[in-house]
Amino acid sequence: MRIAILGGGIVGVTTAYFLAKAGVQVTVIERNPGVAMQTSFANAGLISPGHSYTWASPQAPAILAKSLFYKDQALKLKLVPDWRMYAWCLKFIQNCTAAKARTNTSRKARLSLYSQSIIQEVTGREKLEYDRVSKGLLYLHREDTSLQRAIRNMGVLEDNGVPLRVLSPAEVGQYEPALTDYTKHISGALYCPSDESGDARVFTKAMYECCVAMGVRFMFDTVATNASVEGDRIKFIQTCKGPIDADRFVFAMGCDTSRFARKLGYRLPIYPVKGYSVTFPILDPERAPDVGGLDEHHLIAWARFGSTLRVTGTAEFAGYDTTHKPSDFSHMIDVAKLMFPDAIDFTRPSYWAGLRPMTPDGTPILGPSRHKNLFFNAGHGHLGWTWSCGTARIVSDLIIGKTPEVSLDGLTLR
Ligand SMILES: Cc1cc2nc3c(=O)[nH]c(=O)nc-3n(C[C@H](O)[C@H](O)[C@H](O)COP(=O)(O)OP(=O)(O)OC[C@H]3O[C@@H](n4cnc5c(N)ncnc54)[C@H](O)[C@@H]3O)c2cc1C
Repeated sequence: MRIAILGGGIVGVTTAYFLAKAGVQVTVIERNPGVAMQTSFANAGLISPGHSYTWASPQAPAILAKSLFYKDQALKLKLVPDWRMYAWCLKFIQNCTAAKARTNTSRKARLSLYSQSIIQEVTGREKLEYDRVSKGLLYLHREDTSLQRAIRNMGVLEDNGVPLRVLSPAEVGQYEPALTDYTKHISGALYCPSDESGDARVFTKAMYECCVAMGVRFMFDTVATNASVEGDRIKFIQTCKGPIDADRFVFAMGCDTSRFARKLGYRLPIYPVKGYSVTFPILDPERAPDVGGLDEHHLIAWARFGSTLRVTGTAEFAGYDTTHKPSDFSHMIDVAKLMFPDAIDFTRPSYWAGLRPMTPDGTPILGPSRHKNLFFNAGHGHLGWTWSCGTARIVSDLIIGKTPEVSLDGLTLR
């Protein structure tokens, strides 16, 4: 069997890995000159079943509306002339009931735990190194009301097998001494001891090496431009370098999956939500944190990758625009200065912005389509690193005719 995978981000590369392991002949088509050069390039690096909450919650519509009128650094919604954004927002709001939030969060949590176990399995088997830190993740709360709400809401994750502990500010300082001074600004935290962090790009590149060793063919600098269809099957993919034919095709193009699939008549509810990250060299390893996490008040994440520290934040609806300017990072840098003063070299920032391929209900779109030989692996939103190996394994199992190890309820084409 010959498979062509469109997209060489973390999702496409991990899918190639599992298919190649199953003995399938795989070609990956990627428009960039290498793997992980789009959204998988510099994300927050958190493998976070402990933060699998759906964004579409009962509080979300008010937060969205507020962002139209107030300059909020965490969420930025602009009234842009793109009807797809409004269609997406409408579906998002329809998912904001308490019942749907619970269902969607449960699905996300189960997928996160499954995927983390597959990442660990692959990491052990292939001896992958990607600045992995397995010391749990901290979710800090500034206001007591916010902490109490988080404690009330954590049951949905615990019911699905995610371990969580409530920590006082002093306990946060014990788990992560680099945060000791900052604990005077917080009322407490949730801590997920099994959560991890690591560099998704380094992981993807290591998986790429494994794929190459198994004979996977990577076609870089190759733009897929259209698909040629015969009846209910895709015949070949047109690319800037000519047609690519295969027995089966996987669309794993992140945010571009919905734009490309539109050519075949699909209306996938995947819309880009922009985020920003800034990475600094560490000056004082003793004062830099090992344990990663998220400040829930500012919605700013941090994670250490070896001798660097990355700070990440913002959810902005800006279409497919990935441009950025230094002022876009000023808020997250101010927060980082408060959290980790003297630990990192603030004069040497590496700026980056990327697009989360978000679905309104927060779950990805996996598996079969209306075309018999087309499969999707897309729409991983804010959890694409966490879900990478799990969704790759699910889609590869479906392609080779095996029953996936987890329920596909709510994770297929819709
Ligand atoms: C700021 C930020 C922080 C994040 N933090 C986390 C985190 O802490 N934990 C976590 O789990 N997730 C996180 N994510 C989400 C995660 O990064 C994404 O879900 C994941 O990278 C998506 O991977 P992907 O392979 O689907 O997409 P991509 O990495 O975007 O890969 C898609 C690939 O398809 C290629 N492509 C597209 N169209 C074509 C075409 N026509 N022809 C050829 N090639 C094409 C692109 O060039 C690209 O390389 C974060 C995202 C952002 C933006």
